[in-house]
Amino acid sequence: MPEILDLEVVKDFLNERIAGRKIVRAEAPRPWIVRSLAADDFVADVTGRTFGKVLRVGKDLLFPLDPDRVLVTNLMLTGHLQYCEASARRSKRLFFLLGLDDGELRYLDDRQMGLIYYVRPDQLGEIKRLTDQGPDALDAKLTFDEFKANIRPYTGEIKGVLARGKFLSGIGNAYVDEILWAARVSPFRKRKDLSDEELRRVYDAIPEVLNEAIEVVRERMPPNIHLKVRDFLKVHRKGGEPCPRCGATVSEITPNKRITSWCRACQPGGLIKN
Ligand SMILES: [Zn+2]
Repeated sequence: MPEILDLEVVKDFLNERIAGRKIVRAEAPRPWIVRSLAADDFVADVTGRTFGKVLRVGKDLLFPLDPDRVLVTNLMLTGHLQYCEASARRSKRLFFLLGLDDGELRYLDDRQMGLIYYVRPDQLGEIKRLTDQGPDALDAKLTFDEFKANIRPYTGEIKGVLARGKFLSGIGNAYVDEILWAARVSPFRKRKDLSDEELRRVYDAIPEVLNEAIEVVRERMPPNIHLKVRDFLKVHRKGGEPCPRCGATVSEITPNKRITSWCRACQPGGLIKN
């Protein structure tokens, strides 16, 4: 799933190419992915509108389409946005495309999991996840005291807490592993058992990890915004490899089909032994 920094790079890339540009044609080989609250026929309705500036809210990208429409995309686990020439080979996973006179924005999905809405601006409030989110993980104004107060109601394993959009929006499985490794806190430690000093390390690691990664992704992902760049991560999916900090072997388990990778030497405790 794309996380906050992937989406920032996608947003900036698209703003350079599509903001202010008119949709001259649209196609939807699989139109049912689009939940259209604004019009019965998405393809007919969207044609002729003009892209405004793309915005990001948590893990959603909002595409204002003038006049009076917004396309909202949450890619979930299997969705991808692609920007390419109209002549580029079409993926079998193509659901819809919005064509400009010299390129097109495509929505691809491996398993139809993306949540796509087409609404009027006054209908945005009907998309619950947009309003029901905690502060943005890249919000530099979030103080440690606020972070501590917001996290207090959540007592469970720290990895699960950090990945909750209601607590902090924009980060998920991969970058939570990276943040906890940087903070030297085990993903399985309970939040209620963490000291203030440990919580402070987690809080400090969030912008450090995200800002470092965004530079790498910005350098390496465009123009292929539909591909993920994750090979540079330090522990996530590096099970069996040496920890870049201490050299111990990185551990990896997959509870509930979600991979968790961490270093038992640098991030001790938390996991019940059996
Ligand atoms: Zn280590």
